[in-house]
Amino acid sequence: MVAAQSAGDEAEDKRWFALKPMNCPGHVQIFKHGLKSYRDLPLRLAEFGVVHRYEPSGAMHGLMRVRGFTQDDAHVFCTEAQLADECLKINDLILSTYADFGFEGELTVKLSTRPDKRVGTDEMWDHAERVMATVLSEIEARSHNQRIKTAINPGEGAFYGPKFEYVLRDAIGRDWQCGTTQVDFNLPERFGAFYIDADGSKKTPVMVHRAICGSMERFIGILIEHYAGNFPLWLAPIQALVTTITSEGDEYAKVVAAAARRAGLRVEIDLRNEKINYKVREHSLAKIPALLVVGKKEAETHSVSIRRLGSEGQTVMATDEAIAALVDEATPPDVKRAQAA
Ligand SMILES: [Zn+2]
Repeated sequence: MVAAQSAGDEAEDKRWFALKPMNCPGHVQIFKHGLKSYRDLPLRLAEFGVVHRYEPSGAMHGLMRVRGFTQDDAHVFCTEAQLADECLKINDLILSTYADFGFEGELTVKLSTRPDKRVGTDEMWDHAERVMATVLSEIEARSHNQRIKTAINPGEGAFYGPKFEYVLRDAIGRDWQCGTTQVDFNLPERFGAFYIDADGSKKTPVMVHRAICGSMERFIGILIEHYAGNFPLWLAPIQALVTTITSEGDEYAKVVAAAARRAGLRVEIDLRNEKINYKVREHSLAKIPALLVVGKKEAETHSVSIRRLGSEGQTVMATDEAIAALVDEATPPDVKRAQAA
């Protein structure tokens, strides 16, 4: 860990700043803020937390392994009775997230059980492993199309609790371990976290650590590999590019780009005095999903000629219609579901 004391105007405070390696202790502190009752449980805290690990320089690898990264992290504080339900809820969230990102191949959920060196009583492990084995068979039963495989890794759990690992398969059959659901018997007790149960007694909550994508940087790397750079419109960094056949189209190109931006699309404009085929080729190589080409004729008829990445030919559409169609396609799947509900 790297720590530094404040200097300058804040020097009087003598405050220490440090890079955090994980988000868990912070969430336990939030849980401990104020007395908790069994009625407050399950309590779920989520954070896109930036964490740092001093990876050896030889281990660093593009976006896949970096020293500072963002975890889509959450911690659920619950009772033992709520554990199964929480694991299933997390499972549903993980599966729907992978589906939204376009991972439709095989998926493996592995349960790692108690290692030789561990904390917690055998009763705690028995209970948690029994609950998680039930959850695992429920996950298998829910997989109607046999897409989800389950497995058990005996002795591979962390010393502080059993866990589920989610391994997804990308478009060309590579496996990536991303999501985890980790039960923890250690941290709440070590940090003195408790809640008041229905009978007035103090109880230690079960803590579940969960990540869906894991490291967001690594997940973006996986997405680039999965799509080979051809992102669906809603994910593409630049969604559309407006370009011209001759400089006669310049003014109208600016009008189209401004309208598309107002509609919320991520748009660039290319007015360079280059041959249209040259520009189309360049932007296709940059994997821009939609090219909106305008010339004198399009300016007169308020239309655009659309070329989509990966398909030959072009379609001429009224500009308003074209933008509306792109906006619809650019809506993220979860937002679409929310709009439909
Ligand atoms: Zn954690």
